[in-house]
Amino acid sequence: IMKETRASLERERDVAASAKQLTLGWMQVLPVDRVSFIVPWEGEERMLLTAENRYNGELAPEHGCHSLLGMSSDRYRDAFGPDKYVLLPGEAAEYGLCNDCGHQGLTMPLFSAMDDDISGLAIIHTTDSVDLQPELEDVLSRVSPALSVALEREMISRRLESERDHIFERSIRDPLTGLFTRRYMDDVGGRMISANDRDSTREVALLMFDIDHFKRVNDTYGHQKGDDVLAAFAQVLIDGAREADLPVRYGGEEFAFFAFVDTTEGAKAIADRFRRQVSDLEFEHEGTTFSVTVSVGVALHELGETLAETLRRSDLALYEAKETGRDRVCISEGSLPTITV
Ligand code: GH3
Ligand code: MG
Ligand code: MG
Repeated sequence: IMKETRASLERERDVAASAKQLTLGWMQVLPVDRVSFIVPWEGEERMLLTAENRYNGELAPEHGCHSLLGMSSDRYRDAFGPDKYVLLPGEAAEYGLCNDCGHQGLTMPLFSAMDDDISGLAIIHTTDSVDLQPELEDVLSRVSPALSVALEREMISRRLESERDHIFERSIRDPLTGLFTRRYMDDVGGRMISANDRDSTREVALLMFDIDHFKRVNDTYGHQKGDDVLAAFAQVLIDGAREADLPVRYGGEEFAFFAFVDTTEGAKAIADRFRRQVSDLEFEHEGTTFSVTVSVGVALHELGETLAETLRRSDLALYEAKETGRDRVCISEGSLPTITV
């Protein structure tokens, strides 16, 4: 039976199938209910793979038995003896295998094929207490190498997947403000604009924000305070954004906001609301309070215009807002004048 189980474990592609196979195999010799696994995850985190979470995994609540993870096989043998493959509940209390916890069941350490450290724990939940004779333990342990290989394979592919997600998230979100990055804007903003080209009833407004005299904030209150101001400013955009809007950190203290609007007036109203909300923010620094203002340039995308061209017009409007006194909204009147050389 165990030979069969082991052979099929080597073929199984995922941990769920392995667990099912193991449960069936071990049921022949033990009152096995189900099998779950604890494996290291990112940093200090542990992942718990169980039938309840469909073996998709969830972060395991902190537990004493996690101290077994990473232990070398030498240290393990010193602590438990050379032929100790399976630990009973409560047997290794100093390693957290208590009797009265959610991990109740036989614990089988799985040694990594690469470095012989404990790379995972298989928890064999039983419906009855078990008299763990050496022969039985030996039978249970036969599948251990195949199982640890299956589990390692699974965890490697999950880590890769998680890594990919993180990289993707980093490329679309600015870490300081949580706003979308410029790179993401090129993609999604570009699509908003081509939607407007196809259906001209949906106007796209492009708002450009630049905080006024932001250098003074840094110089007077410190760079950290400056960062706080940027994060608070971004939050105003995030809170005011509707589902289809696109708030972007465009540069250091410059932000862009894409919105579908009906009219220029509608776009101006959005910009002005943000402008007022920003000047209402209050910041504290060593017992004093201060506030900031923002200048805004607005351009409505014109049919056939590229994203870069609309951006340039909103930027020119922003420049005008700065030139005419700051803390105001300026609207681009229309396409760039054609330059004849
Ligand atoms: P203006 O009203 O003309 O916009 O004046 P300003 O002082 O805001 O001028 P400018 O746009 O040239 O200055 C932007 C400053 O923003 C310069 C830079 O040190 C600061 N800055 C850019 N990125 C960050 C950031 O991530 N954190 C902090 N704290 N400061 C930043
Ligand atoms: Mg600037
Ligand atoms: Mg500025």
